[in-house]
Amino acid sequence: MGPSTPALSSSLEQLTEACRGCRRCGLADGRLHVVVSRGNPAARLMVIGEGPGAQEDASGLPFVGRAGQLLDQMLASVAIDSNRDAYICNVVKCRPPGNRKPTVLEIAACRPWLEQQVRLVNPAVVLLAGASALEGVLGIKGGITRLRGQWRQGERDPLAGRWLMPILHPSYLLRNPSREQGSPKWLTWHDLQDVRRRLNQLESGS
Ligand code: SF4
Repeated sequence: MGPSTPALSSSLEQLTEACRGCRRCGLADGRLHVVVSRGNPAARLMVIGEGPGAQEDASGLPFVGRAGQLLDQMLASVAIDSNRDAYICNVVKCRPPGNRKPTVLEIAACRPWLEQQVRLVNPAVVLLAGASALEGVLGIKGGITRLRGQWRQGERDPLAGRWLMPILHPSYLLRNPSREQGSPKWLTWHDLQDVRRRLNQLESGS
């Protein structure tokens, strides 16, 4: 039997505190920090990645290593400031050893925290960065290169009514640096332009 569902937090501060004491899965054993979020909790955009790497574990903040810096640059290229206009988190909040992918059980153990984050931040648009986020949030295994850039509407609480888009993970883009037409980076930049358009539409109420 898995761990019982954690109590609901009434604020993000309370949630952060609860996460800091969490031992719902084995990733608790090797962590330096529980990496909950960075950015603006009032943002309309939420970015969900896979899990903390070494720099995130050391600093306690998500997406601050090389992949995070690339994410920041790419968001900035479509006039999205990652700390002002987005709330950034991961499907697991503790670092998987050796940067391996989190397991299905670890993602499931951490999911109640992520769901509480979605409820409390209440984003209109959610980006799923990479295959683990796609699997952890929507239960879709594989197919990120085919499904990236496609809008989906969340169907079940707490995603119901929100716009979701899978995108390629920035660490994949670091390994594929070409900017040529059709390259992963080029495609992601186009996906982010689409995200910008969606946010503009939502802001103008159309
Ligand atoms: S990864 Fe999530 S569920 Fe596992 S110990 Fe860390 S906060 Fe808890």
